[in-house]
Amino acid sequence: MYEINDIVVMKKPHPCGGKAWTVARTGADIKLQCNGCGRFVNLTRDELKKRAKTVEKAVEENE
Ligand SMILES: [Zn+2]
Repeated sequence: MYEINDIVVMKKPHPCGGKAWTVARTGADIKLQCNGCGRFVNLTRDELKKRAKTVEKAVEENE
């Protein structure tokens, strides 16, 4: 399950060289923002599952 602000590390790097993406929106599609260049991309859950190597869960910042 992907949630907003999770960090997804892809198997293949983006053209900018970055491999880490931040989940910006979830739903039928997952919207990701590249941590390297800031571009957005929409992937279906199946596509993301295939491309993702690891997922780091967002750290909750509760005080
Ligand atoms: Zn990029």
